[in-house]
This record gives sequence, C-alpha cells and structure tokens, in this order.
Amino acid sequence: MTDFRALRLHKTDTSAPDIAIERLTTDDLSTGNVLIANEFSSLNYKDALAVTGQGKIIRDFPMIPGIDAAGTVLESSDPNFRDGEHVILTGHGVGETHTGGMSEQVRVPGSYLVKTPKALDSRQAMQFGTGGLTGMLCVLALLDSGLKPADGPIAVSGAGGGVGGIATTVLSTLGYEVHAITGRESEHARLKALGAAEILNRTDFARDPKPLESTRFAGAIDTVGGQVLATFIPQIMYNGVIAATGNAGGFKFSTTVFPFILRNIRLQGVDSVHAPSEIRDRAWQLLSENVTTDQLEASTRTIGIEQVLDTAERLINNEVSGRILIDVHA
Ligand code: NDP
Repeated sequence: MTDFRALRLHKTDTSAPDIAIERLTTDDLSTGNVLIANEFSSLNYKDALAVTGQGKIIRDFPMIPGIDAAGTVLESSDPNFRDGEHVILTGHGVGETHTGGMSEQVRVPGSYLVKTPKALDSRQAMQFGTGGLTGMLCVLALLDSGLKPADGPIAVSGAGGGVGGIATTVLSTLGYEVHAITGRESEHARLKALGAAEILNRTDFARDPKPLESTRFAGAIDTVGGQVLATFIPQIMYNGVIAATGNAGGFKFSTTVFPFILRNIRLQGVDSVHAPSEIRDRAWQLLSENVTTDQLEASTRTIGIEQVLDTAERLINNEVSGRILIDVHA
C-alpha cells in the first residue's frame, strides 16, 4: 500500500499543540466510498481554531485537520463519481470528526462531494474554498429573498476575512453597493479593489445601539456576530434581510424585537456544513460564473502544510487577510 503525507493532530492543548507531518496509509483515513488524490485545501477560521486547540473543534484524535479539499478521484464505488473526475469537498465534519483536507489523500462518502465546475481547477476551487462557498451561500440568501441592487447598500462585516472578502467581491460583481465593515485600516485599499463602494470602521459598530436607528442598509452579510451585528440590525431598511454566518466577534448579542416587527427585518442563518448538495452545486456554479479568480489572486497566499500552525495562530490574532490556500504537495 503506497503511503502519503498528511498533517496530524494528536491532542488539543492550546499551550503546545501536538501536531506533526506524518507518512500515512489509507488505513489511517476515515471511511468512505471515494478516495481522492488531493491537491489543495484552504485555511479557514474553523481550521485555525482546530489546529491551535481553541474552540474544541476536534474531539477525536488523532485527526487530520482541514475542512475542505479539492483534487481528483483515485478510486470510487459511488456511481456519481468516476476515476479521474475533479471534485470539491467541504463541510460534513471533515477535518473535525472525519479525517480532512490537510493530506495528500482524502477518503469520504460521495455525498460529501460536488463536481468541480468546468471553469475551475483545484487551485481555483480552493481559492474560494469553504470561505467562498459560505460567502456565496450568504449572497444566495439575499438574492433568494428578493433583494435587488436598487434596494440600497448591503453591509458586509468582517470584510477583511475570507468569507467577508468573497461576499464583497460577489455582491459588487452582481451590481450591489457594498459597504464593507472592517477593523483594519490596512484592508481599505484591498476592499476597494474587491469592489466595496464604502469602507466603514468596525469601531463605529462597537457601541450599544438604540432599538431603532436611521436606516442605511437594505441588507447585510454578517460574519462576526456580537456587538457589530446588534448595532447594524436597527439600521436595516424596511423589509431588509441579514444573512448571518459567523461569530468571530462573539456568539452572544442583544437586540430588541422592534426592527423585526416594525421594519419586517428577516435574520437568516447560513451554514455551509450541512447545506444540501443541490444548493452547494448551485453556489459553486454561480461562484465560477460570476467571480474570476484573477480578482482573488492578490488576496490569496499559498502555504505548505509546514506553515499551517504558524499561519493559524496569526489568523486567530487577525493578522492575516484574504484567503490562505494550502498546497498539500508543497
Ligand atoms: P477570517 O478570520 O478570515 O475572518 C474573520 C474576520 O472577522 C476578520 O478578518 C476580521 O475582519 C473580523 N474579526 C475578527 N475578530 C473580530 C472581533 N473580535 N470582532 C469583530 N470582528 C472581528 O474568518 P472566515 O472569514 O473564515 O470566517 C468568518 C466567520 O464565519 C467565523 O466565525 C467562521 O467560523 C464563520 N464561518 C461559518 C461558516 C458556516 O458554514 N456557517 C463557514 C465559514 C466560516 P476585519 O479585520 O475586516 O475587521
């Protein structure tokens, strides 16, 4: 049996994560009917929590982290996936309870996979990665609610991050006026280049909001939760929609029912982990049709699995921006 290289986490201990690059065989992989020759994974906020041992993301050890992957099918007994076909893997507990993407080989049930859209190769697919899929699912939540560009500006929080950056790019490509909220001045030029019409400072949202305030956003995509979410809810226009997907700024927030009742505001949660495959297929297709990865190239940094731990620590400390691509063969 041929062996391959993977990153393995042996226990979670925030002071000294027990993580190593090892040579493994398929016996070390979780079960599934599709074996993938992996090319790329990506480093997401959840991966950073997992490999640094914060957030108790991983409970079964040893574990290969990596919540996403893109490569080609090596062996398959799933009728939907043929040998040599390009596939994308996200969610379903991969890199948490099922061995994940920071490995040259990955084995999963076929139901976890989507076929890579024709316009993308594996590198481009992971330039989007879970962050891109989630950003697109948030955009779809707004589109499917009927929100049109003419309705008014859309706020995007955590815009300097992976999900927020992709949401900014997709919305502006589709003609929406994006007001990007960031805590980092160093992100302003990059967000303008991604298509943001206005940049708002996160500190303006770090306050106790009034139950209702002057309205200025037709909708919002929120990746940070907490005080920021609580502060823009009373500023959303009548019939507005908020797609909320993350909690980098805290999972608790306090608000009143007034915006929801008096302004008909809808707050919709978006989770990519268990999104049905039809919705994932649709999101990947729309991503590949509406965003060229050229737009993301300047925001993408590629690392090898040796650099994962160090980069994860910096991601948690909000010291990296954009998308981090992991070349599993580098
Ligand atoms: P990143 O770390 O790339 O981005 C998070 C951004 O949030 C940062 O860049 C920063 O933006 C902002 N931020 C960080 N700390 C704080 C803070 N204390 N208060 C307010 N804002 C803060 O992460 P991702 O984009 O990968 O993920 C964002 C969130 O979405 C995470 O909570 C993640 O778990 C969640 N997520 C959910 C998914 C789902 O399926 N539900 C899938 C993927 C992600 P800036 O510097 O611009 O202020």
